[in-house]
Amino acid sequence: MNPNCIFCKIAARQIAGDIVFEDDEMLAFNDISPQAPVHVLIIPKRHVATVNDLSEADAGLVGRLLLRGSAIAAERGVAEPGYRLIFNCNAAGGQTVYHLHLHLLGGRQMRALG
Ligand code: AMP
Ligand code: ZN
Repeated sequence: MNPNCIFCKIAARQIAGDIVFEDDEMLAFNDISPQAPVHVLIIPKRHVATVNDLSEADAGLVGRLLLRGSAIAAERGVAEPGYRLIFNCNAAGGQTVYHLHLHLLGGRQMRALG
């Protein structure tokens, strides 16, 4: 755990999160400032700052984060109409919290990326 990291603190229950899923390696919680009717963040419990810090050994974990995103999309009723899964990486990628997180966005029509 990184003591300065807000998502590590949510995982450690040191600050509150609106948690929708948890297992031994990951946590999913509703985004505090939702950009769509469904906006969930899926994170590894282990502190990983960015996608750039992942290694080959993390391939399984990353696959399971994606699969959890699709499972939550199904639970929330957005699988069929469609949804977006995004990892932002570093400043130019729009990342503001430096603990790896997968955004699940759904429930409205997404605009083109830009
Ligand atoms: P990013 O810009 O990709 O780093 O996304 C960070 C996301 O974390 C944003 O969508 C924020 O609204 C969200 N966020 C920041 N603090 C919290 C928090 N305490 N609980 C839930 N979501 C948060
Ligand atoms: Zn962290």
